[in-house]
Amino acid sequence: MTEELTTRHILFFGPPGVGKGTQAKMLSARVGVPHISTGDILRSAVAEGTPLGSRAKEIIDAGHLVPDDIMVELVRDVLWKPEAKSGFILDGFPRTLPQAKALTALLADLHINGFVVVELDVDEEELIRRLGNRLVCENDGRIYSMETGGVDGGSPCPDCGGRLVQREDDREETVRKRLRVYHQATAPVLEYYQSLGVLVRVDGRGTAETVHGEITRRLSGEAAR
Ligand code: AMP
Repeated sequence: MTEELTTRHILFFGPPGVGKGTQAKMLSARVGVPHISTGDILRSAVAEGTPLGSRAKEIIDAGHLVPDDIMVELVRDVLWKPEAKSGFILDGFPRTLPQAKALTALLADLHINGFVVVELDVDEEELIRRLGNRLVCENDGRIYSMETGGVDGGSPCPDCGGRLVQREDDREETVRKRLRVYHQATAPVLEYYQSLGVLVRVDGRGTAETVHGEITRRLSGEAAR
């Protein structure tokens, strides 16, 4: 029973560890539009050693934000690609008010209406616990939890056999830094989206499946009333 979603332009918003990547991947598979994660794009650039990657590596590892001009240009390039024509799910962008305003202008250029921002909400203690237990497959980028996934650092990815590793920026000290950056630079973006009337708040606790169910229910025609 697939509920009909009324929008194909969706943005996931919330602090690190809230489940944006997991939910964006699930929704992307369900809706059939690409998942665009700025964190994944930056990590690929780092792995490939591109000029962007060399600039971004230290910033990411320290838990800071990559400068707005770089991020806006990166997202502009991606959203203009043919793959994004039928819709997209953005994850990790915008992270500052200037990025949010640049995105509004970009969406207008692309003639996109009906854009929805899903805010995922989880308390801070749980975020720290989740990030401390998070493992990522080096090969396909899938996300697992040591708490619930039956895996450890170095285990093979249950899906593709790649190695599961902890992200450099998921170490506890960097996590605390990223949460501070979120509260200072990123949280104000919520008020902006609230004022635009595009914000949908979803409780991010519970299993990935229950949260996914709630997101699709809220984004379906029935709940759009
Ligand atoms: P994420 O995978 O979304 O947690 O992103 C990992 C890191 O990439 C962040 O901590 C930032 O250093 C950088 N990054 C990703 N997206 C952005 C963005 N929109 N603006 C600035 N930095 C970003």
